[in-house]
Amino acid sequence: MLSYRHAFHSGNHADILKHYCLMTVLEYFKLKDKPFCYVDTHAGAGLYSLISKEAQKVGEYREGIGRLLAATNLDNSLKQFRNAVVSCLPDDTNLYCGSPWLAQALAREQDRLRLFELHPADAELLRNNMRNIKQPNRAQVFCDDGFKGLLSMLPPPSRRAVVLIDPPYELKQDYQQVTDTLKTALKKFASGCYLIWYPCLSRGESLKLPQNLQKLAPDNFVQAELYVHAPRPDGFGMHGSGMFIINPPYTLPGILEKVLPAMTRLLAQDDSAHFVLNSVIA
Ligand code: SAM
Repeated sequence: MLSYRHAFHSGNHADILKHYCLMTVLEYFKLKDKPFCYVDTHAGAGLYSLISKEAQKVGEYREGIGRLLAATNLDNSLKQFRNAVVSCLPDDTNLYCGSPWLAQALAREQDRLRLFELHPADAELLRNNMRNIKQPNRAQVFCDDGFKGLLSMLPPPSRRAVVLIDPPYELKQDYQQVTDTLKTALKKFASGCYLIWYPCLSRGESLKLPQNLQKLAPDNFVQAELYVHAPRPDGFGMHGSGMFIINPPYTLPGILEKVLPAMTRLLAQDDSAHFVLNSVIA
């Protein structure tokens, strides 16, 4: 049973960190003419209305994209991201982009997008949204399990791939499935760039996930975590989120070193806000 719907959370602080890292990796991949394949294992609907009843119910976007758009003294390091978001969205809308929408806007004619979304309603929305992109035949939407789907795509014909793994983690087994899938994915295609999003919670599995990911790629990774407020006393809720990137662009640690202080200032909800950046580059 799938109960998670990203429409409630789109544009929150976690999307800002995740989509920033995605943009940076895709821009790096575009430095070479050779095509790449973008695989999104948990793609969501692609576009989200910020005035929908879902978005308004929790209002998480106000502490994320709301702050980015409203910032008057935006740090230079975040301006490219704000421009990328604003320019990929249809004019005069109250929309925010999901990962597949941002990726299609940044990807080129020669690149391919393979998008997996298991929730039938979100997969249908994604399919409809992708019909409106430039050269829609670049993108294929599968209403299917993204963990299995990823493995079926590897290695990609072009031997260049950017993979986003962004499960809802509403099921405890998502944590194990991320590491199991990556273990096999790395055997099938060792040189892919894999971006894994995870929530920072007070729970054991979420604390162990980055440690387990590091064991899979101890010699070539970047880990960035952004904590926006202190953990709640009852231990519930997400006080931050992280991105673990395997085979990252060698430039990524330097870029994140500059942007994370500004992103933390922008998204901080209390004085305990901070970031963590670890990397080993081969
Ligand atoms: N990546 C999206 C973005 O950044 O805009 C957000 C994705 S949201 C966090 C997670 C999505 O995964 C939900 O839409 C959910 O329906 C979907 N999902 C859950 N389990 C899945 C699975 N096994 N395979 C594919 N999609 C799944």
